Amino acid sequence: MTGAESGDEAGGSEPEPKPCPHCGVEVTAVIQLIPSAHHAYPCGCAVRGDLLE
Ligand SMILES: [Zn+2]
Repeated sequence: MTGAESGDEAGGSEPEPKPCPHCGVEVTAVIQLIPSAHHAYPCGCAVRGDLLE
C-alpha cells in the first residue's frame, strides 16, 4: 500500500558487492582482523577498508 519497493530505500545497510581487485570474486563484506589490514570476504584477499564504500 505504501509502495515500499520503489528502489530508493533510505537507511539500507547492505553495500553492493564488488569484485575483488585481486582475484575477481564478488566481495560481499570487508572484515578487519587486525588494525592495520582489511580482508575481503569470502575470498580472503587483503583489500582496502573502503572497498565497498
Ligand atoms: Zn580476492
